[in-house]
Amino acid sequence: MKIKTSSEYIASLQAIHPVIYYKGEKITDVTTHPATAPHVRAAAMTYALASQDKYHELATATSHLTGREISRFTHVHQSIEDLIKKVKLLRVLGQKTGTCFQRCVGFDGINAVYSTVYEIDKKYGTQYMDRFKRWLIHIQDENLMVVGAMTDPKGDRSKGPAEQADPDQYVHIIKRRKDGIVIRGAKLHMTGAVNSHEILLMPTTAMNETCKDYAFICSVPIDAPGIAMIFGRQANDSRRDMKETIDVGKPSFGIVGGEAVLVLEDVFIPWENVYMDGETDFAGLVVHRFAAYHRANYGACKTGLMDVLTGAVTYLSQIQGTAKGSHVRDKVTEMIHLSETLYSSSIACSAEGVPTPSGAYMVDTMLANVCKQNVTRFHFEVARLAVDLAGGFIATLPSEYDLRSDEVGHLVKKYFSGVSDIPVEDRIKIGRLIEAMTGGTAMVESMHGAGSPQAQRIMIFREGDLSGKITMAKTLAGISSRKNG
Ligand code: SF4
Ligand code: FE
Repeated sequence: MKIKTSSEYIASLQAIHPVIYYKGEKITDVTTHPATAPHVRAAAMTYALASQDKYHELATATSHLTGREISRFTHVHQSIEDLIKKVKLLRVLGQKTGTCFQRCVGFDGINAVYSTVYEIDKKYGTQYMDRFKRWLIHIQDENLMVVGAMTDPKGDRSKGPAEQADPDQYVHIIKRRKDGIVIRGAKLHMTGAVNSHEILLMPTTAMNETCKDYAFICSVPIDAPGIAMIFGRQANDSRRDMKETIDVGKPSFGIVGGEAVLVLEDVFIPWENVYMDGETDFAGLVVHRFAAYHRANYGACKTGLMDVLTGAVTYLSQIQGTAKGSHVRDKVTEMIHLSETLYSSSIACSAEGVPTPSGAYMVDTMLANVCKQNVTRFHFEVARLAVDLAGGFIATLPSEYDLRSDEVGHLVKKYFSGVSDIPVEDRIKIGRLIEAMTGGTAMVESMHGAGSPQAQRIMIFREGDLSGKITMAKTLAGISSRKNG
C-alpha cells in the first residue's frame, strides 16, 4: 500500500487538483478549507486504523488478485468472514468519527461492479473483467480512495433516461471514439467525492434496450478534464466556516459525509477504463448489488454514531445530576436496545451472505433492505430520545463568544453549570455535540443515504416470496393447490 497513514492520504490530496466550488467560490485545498477539512479528517481515519495493532486485522485484507496486503476498503469480499469484518470495521469507524467516513461508497461500488462485470463477460464474451482487475490492482496498491457515482438527477421522473427532454438528466455517452468514450451529465449526493482520488461511475437504475448510451460503467480520476464538483450546504455550516470550535459540536470531523454534485462535461474515458458499454440487461443488477451492500453498512456505521450519542446523553445526565432517575436509565436502555437491534441486522445480512458466480461474496439482499429500513426509524428514535434526555437547554445555549465574553461569560458559566465537580464547558460541549448529531443534515443522511425508505420497501416486497408464504399458509390450513391459485 503506497498511502499508509492519514498524513500521507492528506498529502496525496494536496498533490491533485480537482475543480470544486462552494458558496460560489473555488476551493483550492480541500485539506485545509473549513468546509471540507473535517470530512478529509473523517476519511483519513480509514487510513489511520490500518496502522493500529488493535484494528489492523479489521482494516486490512489480503488481495485475492495479488496476495498483497491492502486496505479493506479496496477489497473484494471473498467470504462471509470478510462481510462480517467489514461491518465490524464500519461500527468502529462510526464510533471514532461520529460521522460518515465516506469510503464505503467506492468500496461497495468495487464489489458490485466486480461480480457484475464477471457475469457480463460470461454472457457476452467481452473482456471487461481484465480491464477492471488492472484498475483495481492499481487502486489496491496505491491505496486510493474511490467514490462510487450512482444517482443521476433524473429530471422528469415519469420518463426514462432516453425519453428526457434534456438527455443530460442521466449521464450518457455522447461519443464513442477509437480510443474511448466521451460522457456528459451529472451525479448527485456524491459522498466524499471532493476528497477522493478516483470515481467509479455506474448506472442509476435498471434500463431497457433504448438506453444503450446510458448503460455503462467506467472509472476516471477525480481531477480529469471536464469534471467539476459543487459542494453542498449543511445545517449550521456557517459555524463551521467561521472556524468556531465548541459551537460546531464536533470540531474534528464533519456532521455528515460531505455531499457534492458531480458535473461531467464531455469527459473522455479511455477504453481501458470502461467496464460495461451498452449491456442494458446488467444495469439493474449492478444497482441492486450496490444498494444491498450499502444498505447492509448502515446498521453498522450508524450504530457507531448511536453509540456516541448514547454516551453523550449518559454523560450529560451525570453532569445534570439526573443519571440515577429510573426514566433516564430506561431511555438510555432503549437507545442501546435500538442500536444493537440495528447492528444485528448488519451482522445477519453478512452472515447470510452467498458467493456470486465470480467468487465474490454478496450480502443477503432482503436482510440488507430490512436493515436500512430500520435505520430510517431507529436512528430517529434514538435521536428523539437523546433530545428528550438532553432537555431544553440546547435550545437556549448561548454561543461560544458569550461564554468567552468579559461582560457575560461569568453569567453563562453560572447559569449553565451542573453538578459542582464537572466543568460547565463539558456541559456546553456535550450539548453542542448532541445538537450536531441530532439535527438537520445528519438525520437526512440517515433517512435517504443508500436509497430512500420507499426503495427498501419496494425490494422487501419484491423479495418477500409471497407465493411461498401463501403455500405455507395453505398447507397448514389444509387447502389443496389448484392450478389457478
Ligand atoms: Fe460509509 Fe455509512 Fe458513510 Fe455510507 S453513510 S459512506 S456506509 S459511513
Ligand atoms: Fe451514505
